[in-house]
Amino acid sequence: CGIVGIVGKEHSEQIIINGLQRLEYRGYDSAGLFVSDGKQEHLIKSQGRIKNLQEKVSDDVNGTIGIGHTRWATHGKPSEENAHPHTSQNGKLLLVHNGVIENFDELSQDYLADETFYGQTDTEIVVNLIASFMENDSLSTKAAFQKALTVIHGSYAFALVNQEDPETIYVAKNKSPLLIGLGDGFNVIASDALAVLDQTHEFVEIADNELVTVTADNVIIENQAGQTVQRDSYKAQLDA
Ligand code: GLU
Repeated sequence: CGIVGIVGKEHSEQIIINGLQRLEYRGYDSAGLFVSDGKQEHLIKSQGRIKNLQEKVSDDVNGTIGIGHTRWATHGKPSEENAHPHTSQNGKLLLVHNGVIENFDELSQDYLADETFYGQTDTEIVVNLIASFMENDSLSTKAAFQKALTVIHGSYAFALVNQEDPETIYVAKNKSPLLIGLGDGFNVIASDALAVLDQTHEFVEIADNELVTVTADNVIIENQAGQTVQRDSYKAQLDA
């Protein structure tokens, strides 16, 4: 299972597909991606290999932001509906997730008792939890994500996009890998540097329980208290 995302570069869908292909070694039973160019959104999912996903990405798809995922099912059978990215019921939020949310049943009962879901994943609960915090507590995407992280127990690497702000990817991790890759006028995220070495060799590590706001020109890392964290980047030694 793996995650790739990019903001600030044309044809993000191709970069994501290429990256996901390099992450296939981490396991897969299905895959999916979301891209937007600010006018048009595309959510494409497929069972099986990344190749199947690639075949569904038609020539008219061109994102300038996107997130993609290869899934190794832990909750809910491998299927197109259970493939990531997952969408909140209001249609605004898209979330990819590697890992396992241990208290997803509890969260669903406590916060989402009236809602019905299209799939069976723990991830779909989380994306709706964030959406519910935005709505009920009038929180920004980032603040709602931050709040969700305080009630979630388990392992995760998350990448979150709000379709209404197609210029930002929000990222957080706990016990699952995720890196930020720095580009010139764009930035990428990936479970493994290997996935994006054709884009950049410069990376920044994220620690557990930080929240990272990634835009084309900026990477802002905040700790749980909301303080900005400065961290040096490093050059990956591997060859692409
Ligand atoms: N727990 C999530 C699911 O079953 C994510 C699995 C993964 O890491 O790919 O969909």
